[in-house]
Amino acid sequence: MDPTKTDGTEYFHRVVDCQWACPAHTDVPEYIRLIAQGRFTDAYLLNRESNVFPGILGRVCDRPCEPACRRSRVEDKPVAICRLKRVASDNREDIRDRLPQAPGRSNGKRIALVGAGCASLAVANDLIPLGYECVIFEALDKPGGLMRTNIPAFRLPATVIVDMGVDLRLSLPVECMSALLEDDFDAVFVGTGAPKGKELELPGRYDSDRIHIGIQWLESIAFGHVTSIGKRVLIIGVGNTAMDCCRSSLRLGAKNVRVMARKPRAFFKASDWELEDAEEERRR
Ligand SMILES: Cc1cc2nc3c(=O)[nH]c(=O)nc-3n(C[C@H](O)[C@H](O)[C@H](O)COP(=O)(O)OP(=O)(O)OC[C@H]3O[C@@H](n4cnc5c(N)ncnc54)[C@H](O)[C@@H]3O)c2cc1C
Ligand code: SF4
Repeated sequence: MDPTKTDGTEYFHRVVDCQWACPAHTDVPEYIRLIAQGRFTDAYLLNRESNVFPGILGRVCDRPCEPACRRSRVEDKPVAICRLKRVASDNREDIRDRLPQAPGRSNGKRIALVGAGCASLAVANDLIPLGYECVIFEALDKPGGLMRTNIPAFRLPATVIVDMGVDLRLSLPVECMSALLEDDFDAVFVGTGAPKGKELELPGRYDSDRIHIGIQWLESIAFGHVTSIGKRVLIIGVGNTAMDCCRSSLRLGAKNVRVMARKPRAFFKASDWELEDAEEERRR
């Protein structure tokens, strides 16, 4: 009999449903086994082979692995795969010595990365060990992109955003692509994100300063420009950003937070756990 082929994804498709359902094909069973043995650092590093930010995903991943978990066929709920990633991250030891290092000699190629969000940081993480020189240009004075400026800090504390040890040029917005190319870079990676909320062009939209677009409003909270909100808040839309707005409103002092949806609950865009967390917070 031929040995089982585990080098492709096909094998996992058939036997490890959660690993297949994870977009990064994280080795879920193995990292949970390592946690069970108390080997948090090893569990973290195993995660890191598939995804660069286990501490962040352990808090905010949309966790498509969990609906696929086979335990939910015999129990009410799946294994808490996502939160266990957080457990590995929060309990790990110093891993700096075990992270992939830049080789002694550069391969002579320089890459410019525009924006210091998770996209550019992940690209740098993969290219630096191959000998590429990576320079990240970030418009803001801190790295992290939307992870820092939009996902509320009560869900994702900024301390979880890891120092990747890359050449990071902060407060340097890239304003001219041709200037970048002239600056001796072999390639440019554009990781500037998609940080815009959808406008709602309805009569009255611009008649009041009490109407906000969710993404910008959350960003204003992160920057400390918004510190309060009225007592009664209406949120239009039921996606994950809307849930962040609900929870942030409650934390800024709102007493009555309502959500308006066009379709029944089964069609809500927000993940079940985002809805649960927001509803739980409202009940408190
Ligand atoms: C409210 C909210 C909640 C979210 N919650 C989740 C969640 O729970 N789970 C999840 O997985 N995802 C979540 N997301 C989505 C997630 O934040 C994004 O998918 C992710 O941040 C995209 O990463 P990125 O690196 O592509 O871009 P970004 O994070 O947007 O980073 C882009 C960076 O580029 C910089 N930049 C832009 N233009 C320039 C320029 N010209 N020069 C230099 N720098 C520039 C910006 O300042 C920014 O730092 C959420 C998003 C929002 C808005
Ligand atoms: S929590 Fe996210 S990253 Fe982790 S295994 Fe599940 S889908 Fe993959």
